[in-house]
Parts: sequence; structure tokens; C-alpha cells
Amino acid sequence: MSALAATAPLVRLTGVTKVYRMGDVEVQALRGVSLAIAQGGLTAIMGASGSGKSTLMNIVGCLDRPSAGRYELAGRDISGLSRAALAELRNRTLGFVFQSFNLLARTSALENVELPLLYAGVSGRERRRRAVAALGRVGLADRLRHHPAQLSGGQQQRVALARALVMEPRLILADEPTGNLDSTTSAEVMALLQQLGHGGITVVLVTHEPDIAAYAERVIVMRDGCVQSDHAQQPLRAPEPAAAASALPAPTTAAARPVLAAPTGAAR
Ligand code: ADP
Ligand code: MG
Repeated sequence: MSALAATAPLVRLTGVTKVYRMGDVEVQALRGVSLAIAQGGLTAIMGASGSGKSTLMNIVGCLDRPSAGRYELAGRDISGLSRAALAELRNRTLGFVFQSFNLLARTSALENVELPLLYAGVSGRERRRRAVAALGRVGLADRLRHHPAQLSGGQQQRVALARALVMEPRLILADEPTGNLDSTTSAEVMALLQQLGHGGITVVLVTHEPDIAAYAERVIVMRDGCVQSDHAQQPLRAPEPAAAASALPAPTTAAARPVLAAPTGAAR
């Protein structure tokens, strides 16, 4: 990584617009958004439905391109990159977390977390080692063999977070990550996101809940495709992740007991 890339903001949008064309009708989803996000920390994006939050996240996540304006990620202008180069950049730099977890149902926590490594061509042993470590980081070292249905909602979201973390991204984009969770479990997930932010990963999350935005140190409010407000705040401190993890209830279904012995590759 060049010196420039290390000191530039991780995310920089300059006059970004996005126009969707529906037949004769043009929808101005973003109308000139300029903002920069430094490496590390937790930023919340709020705003009414239709204000452009998802469009903004899709552009920051390199899933879509601006109609006009400039987007630089880690100091690199991404507008000229090919589809393949964008996919590569996404894999190496970005992690995604969704409201509905998006885990594979018939697959263990470990296999779900190994998946991005499999796509990246990482060998079996190394895959296993890194997936075990990522699950340990989110407090799920004792749930490797569980399938999503055998885990609580909060645990499933932590598996999804481990899957995002396993490629060691610089930026995690989370669209309503606590939208399907109760308030206690939401606080646990926010504790983890806050911890990652402190550790130098940049976390950007969309939420419509002020209680969730309170954990962020910066809140950007979107309105009609523009940034309506952008302010720093003293973040609410989430409960300690370790305490939160140990306070979690064991899975409730009888099938939840791990039946397989740990394969040799999983040993430390
Ligand atoms: P939010 O996530 O804040 O609810 P979106 O970014 O999804 O808002 O949408 C912003 C505006 O762009 C809305 O008016 C929406 O209808 C429109 N829009 C979003 N995606 C598309 C699309 N693929 N095609 C056409 N219009 C879209
Ligand atoms: Mg949306």
C-alpha cells in the first residue's frame, strides 16, 4: 500500500450523483453527495425510506457506480476499474453484513465463514484456521459445527460478521444489521462492531433506529438524495463483547449439540 493510500481517507465521495432511468422517468437517487470517511471507527447513516441510503451503500461497496462524480476507495479512483477489478477490490477490501444474515442454511458456521476464502482460492487447512480464528473473534469458538437454525439471531449475525471479517477487510458495510434482532442482542452486535471500529476497521452501517445510531461516533442523515446533516457525537459505549458473549443463552434446539469431533485442522 502506498503512503498516499495510507494517509488518504478510506472513502471519499465528491459530487456523487446517481440517476435511475425507468422508461421516460428519471429518479435522482443521489443528488451530489460529497463526504470522506477516515480509516477506523463507526459511522451510522440514517434517513427516511427512499432518501438514498442503499444507493449510497451500493456505491461505497463498489456494487454500483455513480452516474457522475468521483469515488475514491483507499486513495484509488474506482471509476475506471473493470468489473473484474472491482470484484477483486470488493473481495480484498470490503465486508458486507445484511439485515437477514444471508447465511447458507444447510451449512455449519465454520463452512459459512470459510466460503469467502474458498472463493479466494485459499487452501483447506489455511481456510479452516482462519475461519476458526474469525469465529473466535466474535465469541463463537464453541459454535463451529452449529447450523444457522441452531443458533440465535444474534449468533447468526455474529457468524455473518465473522464471514465478513475472515478476509480482513478495511471496510465493513452493514445494512440494518440489527433490524431483525431484539434490543439486548442488538447491543451485543453493536459491541462487536464498535470493537472492530476501535481496532481500525471502518464500519459504516445503515439504521433507522436512533438507539443503534447512538453507538456511532458519527451520524450522517440523508434526505432526498442529499446529505442533510453530518455530525460527530460521543458514542454510547456498548457492553463488553466478552461479557455479552458469555451471557448468551445456549441454543435451544436438541439438535444443537455438536455431533462431529473437531477435525485435526481445527486444532490450535
Ligand atoms: P433508501 O435506502 O434510503 O430507502 P434507496 O437508495 O433505496 O433509498 O432509493 C433512493 C431512491 O432511488 C428511491 O426513490 C428509490 O425508489 C430509487 N431507486 C433505488 N433503486 C432503484 C432502482 N434500481 N431503479 C429505480 N429506482 C431506484
Ligand atoms: Mg434502503
